[in-house]
Amino acid sequence: MERAARTRPSARCPIRPGDACSLCMPGVTGPQDCGLVYLVQDDPEMAAELAARRSSVAQQERLASGR
Ligand code: SF4
Repeated sequence: MERAARTRPSARCPIRPGDACSLCMPGVTGPQDCGLVYLVQDDPEMAAELAARRSSVAQQERLASGR
């Protein structure tokens, strides 16, 4: 019996809803140490804007999948 190859789950970018982290910031290893993510999530106005975008993307994904 052959085992399926293991793959690592790709981290999603918290500030680009729907996109995987592309390591676009120099020196980062993922969202967990991304300075841009920290700055956005630390600012109440930007965090609120981000939450609204995430909600919109999640709704679009639900509509696209028919759920
Ligand atoms: S490095 Fe940061 S900003 Fe760039 S994709 Fe990854 S989490 Fe998003």
